[in-house]
Amino acid sequence: MSLNLTDVTLTYPDGETRLTALDTITLDVPKGSLTAVVGPSGSGKSSLLAVAATLIAPDSGTVTIDGALTTHMSRSELTNLRRHKIGIVFQQPNLLASLTAAEQLEVVAKIDGRSPIKARTRALELLDAVGVVEQARRRPHQLSGGQRQRVNIARALMNDPAILLVDEPTSALDHERGTAIIDLITRLTHRQATATVLVTHDPTHLTAVDQIAEVHDGCLRLPVPKGSTPVTHHRSRMCPEA
Ligand code: ADP
Ligand code: MG
Repeated sequence: MSLNLTDVTLTYPDGETRLTALDTITLDVPKGSLTAVVGPSGSGKSSLLAVAATLIAPDSGTVTIDGALTTHMSRSELTNLRRHKIGIVFQQPNLLASLTAAEQLEVVAKIDGRSPIKARTRALELLDAVGVVEQARRRPHQLSGGQRQRVNIARALMNDPAILLVDEPTSALDHERGTAIIDLITRLTHRQATATVLVTHDPTHLTAVDQIAEVHDGCLRLPVPKGSTPVTHHRSRMCPEA
């Protein structure tokens, strides 16, 4: 099971006309693999994640998550799908100032109706997996930027998502800490078998990803991944060659 976007087009109102943020994008992200999305600021990366997260419905095209076509789902079905299948890591950690690192994660399980003991065990397991279990009782102001981002990533994994969507997690970090975060996301993708999309503006981090998709002005260029058969997306208008 995986994440699949087919011929996705998304426009935003722009004065009298509309701005095309995503132009006929087709992207497959298999389970247990990591796709990096790179491209300049304003090229459509966050829009792509928002559509993949079912937070914005595209004008046309389809989004399939873990085998389920999302096109005709109701608002509550989508909320349910996000709660059980999708982990989202936004650019800013958005941690609650009054909660400890462990509690940030436990809140997610509470919404899901899990028992407090199970929630605590899972929270500590995940904080350990991201390397901040020693900081479990600290509040956000007692954590470094890198540690906050690790808690943020651990929180996105609390619902054991099939899909993990991460938007520029390294933008507030120095290069070394940024690389460590990307390595962590790569390991978690394999270990938790998520279909992961990682948006980053810094391609120097990308050594171990499975595919790199380049976005320019809303269209996608997908170099052929190493060791695989080239796929032709007949209906998609791919980016003009650079
Ligand atoms: P990126 O994440 O690559 O910087 P975005 O997906 O945020 O790009 O934006 C793509 C384009 O869509 C930009 O031109 C941006 O200004 C525009 N855009 C993004 N969000 C909105 C919105 N809610 N309303 C109107 N235009 C938007
Ligand atoms: Mg963005």
